Amino acid sequence: MQRDFTHMTTRDHFVTADKEDPLAHFRQLFDLPENVIYLDGNSLGAMPKEAVSRANHVLRQEWGNDLIGSWNTHHWFELPQRIGGKISQLIGGSAGSCVATDTTSINIFKTLASAVHIQAETQPNRRVIVTERENFPTDIYIVEGLIEFLGAPQGHQYELVLVDDAADLEQLVRSRGEEIVCALITHVNYRSGYMWDLSATTQMVQQCGALMIWDLCHSAGAVEVDLSSAHADFAVGCTYKYLNGGPGSPAYVWCADRHLENITQPMTGWWSHRTPFAMQTHYVKTTKADQFLVGTQPILSLATMEIGIDIALSVDQSTLREKSLALTSLFIQLVESRLGHHELTLMTPLDETHRGSHVSFSHEHAYPIIAALISLGVIGDYREPGVMRFGFAPLYNGFTDVWDAVETLRRVLDEELYRAPEFQIRGAVT
Ligand SMILES: *Cc1c(COP(=O)(O)O)cnc(C)c1O
Repeated sequence: MQRDFTHMTTRDHFVTADKEDPLAHFRQLFDLPENVIYLDGNSLGAMPKEAVSRANHVLRQEWGNDLIGSWNTHHWFELPQRIGGKISQLIGGSAGSCVATDTTSINIFKTLASAVHIQAETQPNRRVIVTERENFPTDIYIVEGLIEFLGAPQGHQYELVLVDDAADLEQLVRSRGEEIVCALITHVNYRSGYMWDLSATTQMVQQCGALMIWDLCHSAGAVEVDLSSAHADFAVGCTYKYLNGGPGSPAYVWCADRHLENITQPMTGWWSHRTPFAMQTHYVKTTKADQFLVGTQPILSLATMEIGIDIALSVDQSTLREKSLALTSLFIQLVESRLGHHELTLMTPLDETHRGSHVSFSHEHAYPIIAALISLGVIGDYREPGVMRFGFAPLYNGFTDVWDAVETLRRVLDEELYRAPEFQIRGAVT
């Protein structure tokens, strides 16, 4: 299914569409520079204006004046649970099943290790951990690291198996289902924008007795997620992309209520102790999601990130999803109708049920094209190999932005602006 924008052929049509957009007023909550069309909210979300006053308050009043008492008086100690509870609401879990903490990479390790531990108790012969070949690299690297660490209990090595798509996963479940420990799948792929079916995939994986871990980095804040109705086992995700938490803001880790009593994650730091300030010599874990905490949290980052989470929670998720699909559909259609003479290959599904909130095109000169676009104020990003990625954040991107971005891309391609030498140089971060 595709939305149809063929009747909208001039910029004015999109200015009108922005005026009629029920989410248009959210844009004023964000601080974006003039003359910039920001299509990289899937990598680093825009800054909520209120983050400045919040950070100021935490620095001057809470830290500067109230000092160590702020752990109690300003509730620093409860921030991971409080914010985790809000994130859980956003992704369809119960309040006590999520904490905001650490990074996605670290949380992947904790959830994988928990899954291995659950399985070892009842089905100790399972050794296969599944993820996607096209997954974000850290997800694969963490699985590799854990497998290396686990060694070969009972002389039997753990094994990483990479799948290419849902059909491949189904085939694996059929042929080696009784060997699978868990599957770690990223709901929306970082490169192609492909979105997996949350419920169907979870069901497929659990059918053979394996556990399902979802990475929601490119989902929460842009597409609807309901982990409870999907019956997922674990989930992780970052908050600096569509949740606008700020650079390096803590990630989250979610665990189904049914597992909270049974898991043992290996990073048993004092923040997950049942009574951390009893300072006991022996570790006793809590039975809530705070057992995923390790040590002292980055309070400044947590506090400012809560603003982005509150904004996300104040939006109706289906309206958000509708707008996201409208923006991505419009972008795809305008590129097709106005840039059809250029060699751009769409990598993102046309099928809306399998599309996240960004659109990727491959092109022989992808890197310099993105560099030229950025110099003209249209910020997207480049991903290996040869992929141009454009993220559409429904809270602050509008329909006129899409039109203007496509027109700028047209200029860059028609006039071959990307050939300029300054656009060939690559920075450390692309
Ligand atoms: C962005 C992203 C990450 C980032 O992990 P960090 O530990 O925050 O660096 C991990 N997984 C996926 C799928 C991502 O898109």
